[in-house]
Order: sequence, then C-alpha cells, then structure tokens
Amino acid sequence: MSEPTKGEVFAFWRPWLENHINNLGEPCCWACGKQWGQKYNITNKAPITLEKLWTDVEPLQLFPIKTTRLGGPIDVDNLFLLCQECVDLSPHTTSVRGFLQWVANQDNQMRRIAEVKRELKNFNLEDDLDWVSKASQNPVFKKWLATNIAYLLNEDENGNKVSPSTYFAAIYEFKHKDN
Ligand SMILES: [Zn+2]
Repeated sequence: MSEPTKGEVFAFWRPWLENHINNLGEPCCWACGKQWGQKYNITNKAPITLEKLWTDVEPLQLFPIKTTRLGGPIDVDNLFLLCQECVDLSPHTTSVRGFLQWVANQDNQMRRIAEVKRELKNFNLEDDLDWVSKASQNPVFKKWLATNIAYLLNEDENGNKVSPSTYFAAIYEFKHKDN
C-alpha cells in the first residue's frame, strides 16, 4: 500500500483540526502551530481544494503517531503533519494518548521565546535587554550584520533561518567590537 498524501491525512483529521487550529486555509504544523509566512495560505493560490492545499505544504512531514518501529501502520489514522522541529522533538511511542498529550502542549511562539531567553543567557545579555532591543533596530547594526552573516539571513524554502545563537553571537560581537 502506498503512503497516503498529506491531503488524505488532512481529510481524515479534518474534524479534529477544526477544533485545534484557527484557519484550515492557513496551513501550519499540527503540534506547534508553526506557519511559513503567507506562502501556503489559500488566499495566495488559484482556487484549489483544502486537500490539495495541504498536500502542497512542503515543510510539513507525515509523521507516524504510533511508531512504525513498533508496528504502527502507514495509514491516515496513524499519520500526523508536523514541522521538522516537531519531528525532531516528538515522542516515538505506541501511545496515541501520549502522543496527543505531547501535541497539546507544543507552541512555536513559546519555543522562540525560550530560545531567545537561552541565548540572552549564553551571551550574558540578560541585563542589557534595552540595549539588545535598540541594537536590533539600529540601521548601523543591520548593515554590519548584513556583511557578517548575510548569507545566513535568507530563509530557504523550508523556513530554515539564521539560528538564534548565530544572531546573538553577532549582537555580542557588535556590542564588544570597538573595545
Ligand atoms: Zn511544529
């Protein structure tokens, strides 16, 4: 049996999704809610079905709820659509309720905040929040940044972008470079 399409998996989970995500026309990760800008939103497409819309969201991956290593089937009721980060973090389990419990507490925004807090700590910038926030908006810094990590700043089609530690290492250097 061939692997279902993302659209077929979407169709099976649609009743669940209607209670768990805001707008079915704006595809996102089913666990953390991550989106990829407006890129995959239905408003940017020629008229297509929701199934086709979800099938075409390249960064979303089909992930088995009950792990295939322990006999989980490759079937619509055992597949879920996750972003790469959630794939990396998700449990490999035979417990559907355990998987859904994990899903219920994923939050892309909270992850990003936690990431920033971690990097502020790594670079001893926790007490310099005002300076960091001003520097981030500073045209001199932006220009300097562009010549230092420019190639990393362009998001690729999978939504990969400059890592927080990369960005904060640049902020750190900018803060200390004249000393
Ligand atoms: Zn996710």
